[in-house]
Amino acid sequence: MPPDRYAVIGNPVAHSKSPLIHSMFAHAAGQELVYERIEAPLTDFAASVAAFGDAGGRGLNVTLPFKIDAFNLARSHSERAARAGAVNTLKFESQGLFGDNTDGAGLVRDLLRVLGDVGLGLYASRILVLGAGGAARGIIGPLLAEHPRALTITNRDLHKALELAQRFEGGATTVDSVALEALTHERFDLVINATSAGLGGVTLALPERMLRGAQLVYDLAYGDGPPESSTPFLARAVEEGAVRTADGLGMLVEQAALSFALWRGITPATAPVLAALRSGDKGRT
Ligand code: NDP
Repeated sequence: MPPDRYAVIGNPVAHSKSPLIHSMFAHAAGQELVYERIEAPLTDFAASVAAFGDAGGRGLNVTLPFKIDAFNLARSHSERAARAGAVNTLKFESQGLFGDNTDGAGLVRDLLRVLGDVGLGLYASRILVLGAGGAARGIIGPLLAEHPRALTITNRDLHKALELAQRFEGGATTVDSVALEALTHERFDLVINATSAGLGGVTLALPERMLRGAQLVYDLAYGDGPPESSTPFLARAVEEGAVRTADGLGMLVEQAALSFALWRGITPATAPVLAALRSGDKGRT
């Protein structure tokens, strides 16, 4: 029997660390699988997913910009994916495609790890989410489940931030949306960058010194440098005087572990994989 096949699908996808992460998980679990990268044409996501399924694929991680397309393609959804309206994990089942979203749970697991180190929590904090794309949709429900005091969403296309805030309002936490320019005098405990601005080398247009005093500035993106300043956004946060900064590599590993658990029935340990990625040790793949 050939090993089970999985892949990450997105555009662009060439630099994804998911194949490395999943092969480390499989190795640790003593399982054999193949994990590939698929760069789907921007206009033909559904055909790429179908072709992978027809070729015997068992599951896909979905990355930008296809998380909403993946939601629309799935025949059934987990509760958290249904709430988000976005899917980052697809499982090929005999009844059709099942869609889950592990981004938010992965982020919260990593945030609690980072905040635990400095004795802070999410409870009663004021949170700002920058971005209203597929990743932002996935993280807001799990963040709200930690009972922050308030959660504000801002986005270049403000209409999308408004729609997203409306999708999640009505609970114990105040959820609102504001224009980036209106944030000049606001202060937040936790600022999360969920935009893809950095991927194209673009600097996010933020009001000056907005990150000053934030207890934690977290970037879903990550780079090759130290975790505190591995992206231009985090370097700026450090410069402006944020108390603590962290990149999204920890989240990447955590959300991948939850996808692996859905597909393979085993929740892998994440700490050794994160440590190996940080140290550049790829010997275990
Ligand atoms: P999408 O393409 O779905 O959304 C992109 C978002 O970024 C939109 O809100 C868009 O705004 C905004 N944006 C893009 N360019 C700019 C710019 N120049 N200035 C301001 N805003 C901009 O992507 P995803 O939501 O799927 O991914 C977002 C980021 O999160 C990516 O960097 C991705 O790699 C990262 N990510 C990391 C994960 C991890 O595990 N660490 C998991 C998931 C995502 P607009 O709506 O106005 O176009």
